[in-house]
Amino acid sequence: MTLPLILRSVADLRQHVRAWKSAGQTVGVVPTMGALHDGHLSLARAARAECDRVITTIFVNPKQFNNPEDLKHYPRSEEADAALLATVPVDVIFAPQPEEVYPDGFATTVSVSGVSEPLEGRMRPGHFDGVATVVTKLFGMTMADRGYFGQKDWQQLQVVLRLVRDLNLPVHIVGCETIREDDGLAMSSRNLRLTAAGRAKAPVLYAAVTAAAADIRAGQSDRMAIREAAEAIRAAGFDRVEYIELRDAETLMPSDDPTRPRRMLAAAWLDGVRLIDNIPV
Ligand code: AMP
Repeated sequence: MTLPLILRSVADLRQHVRAWKSAGQTVGVVPTMGALHDGHLSLARAARAECDRVITTIFVNPKQFNNPEDLKHYPRSEEADAALLATVPVDVIFAPQPEEVYPDGFATTVSVSGVSEPLEGRMRPGHFDGVATVVTKLFGMTMADRGYFGQKDWQQLQVVLRLVRDLNLPVHIVGCETIREDDGLAMSSRNLRLTAAGRAKAPVLYAAVTAAAADIRAGQSDRMAIREAAEAIRAAGFDRVEYIELRDAETLMPSDDPTRPRRMLAAAWLDGVRLIDNIPV
């Protein structure tokens, strides 16, 4: 099995992409932070099905970590990632060093107001500025026609959609469904940091929001359903429920209008690991 080409500099990447584009080929990009699992691979497979060339970027973006410990402990496994991406296969892995992405003198921040402010934005100050900045840079570096993002990070997907619209970036964004373990836990690189006992409790997050969404659809009040979900998550042994909210699916603002698409989003701590999930309501 041939491994994808690994490129580390923007200059090398550009050279490849220019050659592809002059041959009339379309380019898809799948931005990741590595430690890849089936969720990431589903994005790469979607890109493979729709684009002539596929680039997966692997960059643990320091600017989107508001917690230095989280950055320090973020899992890194480039060799295993390359082997997984070879199964898709992707054409190129772009894995730059931080100095390549943020050279001395770097001074620009892309900040999306509104949709990036509540929920994750409130709990993780600066996170979405880091995401919006690096995603804008990755689109510039890769000149991709299509960008693939997971619904697992629903708010991030809405931030990217807003950013691309607002800045007229010539890239089409594709939102891919959340890939889950058999017990319902959303796949995440952070799941690797759970203890065996924590891993056994973790599916309760998805089970509880799924039950709450069903109760709301059946006519129960939003507040009551959410309170019960939070209690179930705490009772299962989670350390803390950070939020469970029913929001407008696009703006992420509070919504009690059932005629608009709504999303239930949750964040909770287990074993010192922060887990997030979301589902349509
Ligand atoms: P990350 O490496 O965590 O920054 O994620 C890179 C991309 O993969 C993001 O667009 C995520 O939303 C997406 N992703 C992560 N986990 C999953 C999953 N379980 N299902 C679908 N997409 C995912």
